[in-house]
Amino acid sequence: MLKHGISKESILKTLTEKLKNDYQYDSGFILGSMCSYPQEFGKEIYVNYLDKNLGDPGLFPGTAAIEKELIDDLGSLYNGQNITGSITSGGSEANLIAMRVAKNLRPDIINPEIIVPASAHASFYKGEDLMNIKIRTASLSNYQLDLEHFESLINKNTCGVVGIAGSSSLGIVDPIKEIAELIEGKNIYFHIDAAFGGFVLPFLELLDYNVPVWDFRIKELNSITSDPHKMGLGIIPSGGFLIREPEDLIYYEIPYLAGGDFKHLSILGTRPDANVIAFWAILKHLGINGFKKIIKNCMENTNYLAKKLSDIEGIKLAAKPMMNLVGFTTEDGTSISIIDDELRKKNWMLGKFDEFNLIRIVVMPHVKKEHLSNFIDDLERITKHS
Ligand code: PLP
Repeated sequence: MLKHGISKESILKTLTEKLKNDYQYDSGFILGSMCSYPQEFGKEIYVNYLDKNLGDPGLFPGTAAIEKELIDDLGSLYNGQNITGSITSGGSEANLIAMRVAKNLRPDIINPEIIVPASAHASFYKGEDLMNIKIRTASLSNYQLDLEHFESLINKNTCGVVGIAGSSSLGIVDPIKEIAELIEGKNIYFHIDAAFGGFVLPFLELLDYNVPVWDFRIKELNSITSDPHKMGLGIIPSGGFLIREPEDLIYYEIPYLAGGDFKHLSILGTRPDANVIAFWAILKHLGINGFKKIIKNCMENTNYLAKKLSDIEGIKLAAKPMMNLVGFTTEDGTSISIIDDELRKKNWMLGKFDEFNLIRIVVMPHVKKEHLSNFIDDLERITKHS
């Protein structure tokens, strides 16, 4: 640390220099990120509330009430009633909370297990490492959940099961209703990871896309992860954990808070609230119609990309896009890494899933048609020469 402070101007200059190698979403090259620029009005709101701490809600009852209102709004977006929860640091924290709750609700199980599809996010394996929970992985067949294998993994140690509504690799929605049927009456916790899909699927449904029922309309469902900082255009960090509150939900007791005794559901202690207030404002400002417009545009670009990709010789779409995620692989099974390496040399920032031999593009709001067209040109050139 410096002994004497330096001027603001000098710091700003140094920062510009240090950050110049960071990529910008509007460069047109970031096609693999699930985050984007936050919505403009949310940014204006955010800077006004940086002192708030939701870890001590008794000190900030107004802001705690805003979080509650936000959770209520999201609960109704997902067709639930009496939904509680927490805005989290992201989808990983929300998934970890779900695992913890699933385990705590079954103290009778000594060696608890949770079943996830092979498309599940790494956060579930982080949870396995952090908590005494074994993750059982159900295989996929042609990128879709193998329901028979899933069923075969259910046993007396199963405290929870997970379905994905918008997988990280392909945006696939698991057969949520069918999973619900498998666990009906078995006292098994059911969590849906809609970290990405949570701010896509409700609007696709309103736009008359064919969206299977995946939310609290399914009575066996206990909780949902849905992240504002992905397609919600909220400010990083903002995830969401929503739960149909069971009577015996165990909270963390934090006895020493200045604002008085409060209980936490989140894993974080001190946690930001400026992002929560900003997202509350974003939802109010955009409304359902604002989100519909954003999703409609992303889907138009998604369909354009999917069509262009399937026209390239040697390239094959991994699956028909269900949302604004497009995965492609090679027709002859050649390693996708070779293509990814060439694309990276040309600056393209994509998502690569080695286990499925696919490259995936996230058609976020910052991705424009001309970026996709430039990308297709480069991909065509690369595949011609390989
Ligand atoms: N779940 C899914 C389906 C995801 O795609 C991701 C991240 O991409 C996560 C969870 C983890 O979210 P975060 O990076 O916000 O912790």
